[in-house]
Amino acid sequence: MFPVRRIYCVGRNFADHAREMGAEAPAAKAERGTPVFFSKPADALALEGTAVYPPGTQDLHHEIELVVALGRDAPAGVLAVEDAQALVFGYGIGLDLTRRDLQAAAKAKGLPWDTAKGFDQSAPLSELVPAAALGELAPRTLSLHVNGALRQRSRLDQMIWDVPDILHELSRLYALRAGDLVFMGTPAGVAALQPGDVCLGQLDDVLELHCRIMPADMR
Ligand code: MN
Repeated sequence: MFPVRRIYCVGRNFADHAREMGAEAPAAKAERGTPVFFSKPADALALEGTAVYPPGTQDLHHEIELVVALGRDAPAGVLAVEDAQALVFGYGIGLDLTRRDLQAAAKAKGLPWDTAKGFDQSAPLSELVPAAALGELAPRTLSLHVNGALRQRSRLDQMIWDVPDILHELSRLYALRAGDLVFMGTPAGVAALQPGDVCLGQLDDVLELHCRIMPADMR
C-alpha cells in the first residue's frame, strides 16, 4: 500500500493534445513557458477497476497519463532538476477523467476547473511499480484502448516537460512530500466515455490499468 497525500496534475504536456484542445504548442523547449497545474482530491482515486459516470456532465472524457509517486520529501526551497529523480518511488498509469463540457464552460469564462477535474472517482489508478522496474521513461509507450479500440498512444519522449522538469516546477509552488502523486498529462486522442465502456491503459507490457465506467444509478 502507498499512502497518498496529494494529487497534482499537469495540463497540456503533450503538443498533440495541446493542439487538439485549441491551445498553442511550444515550438521549442525555450518557448514552453510554465506548465499548467491543477489538482484532484486524494480521495478521488479509484482503485477497484471501476469508476461511476459522474453527475452534472454530458461529456465525460478519458485522458490516459503516466503517474509519478513520490517516496521522499523534497528538501526546503526549489528542487533542482538534477535532484528530482531521487524523490521518485515509482510509477503508475492513471485516467484523468474530465467533465469536458464543464471544463470548456470554465475556460470560456476564465473560471477554475475544479468541477471539471476534481469529482468523485475522477482518478482511476493502476498499481505502482518501483522506478527501477521501468528504467528510462522516454522510450516507453503509453496507450489507451476503449472497448478494444485504440484511442490514445504516444511515446513518453513526447512530453513537453519530463518528470524532473515537472517536479522542479511544482517545487516552486508547493512543498513536495512523500505520498504525493503527479499525473503527467495526456497525449492526443481524448474522447467521450459512456456507461459500460471498458478502458484498458498500458505502459508497454509493464503497467496495466483496467477501468469499467459504471452507470450513475449503480452508486
Ligand atoms: Mn490530464
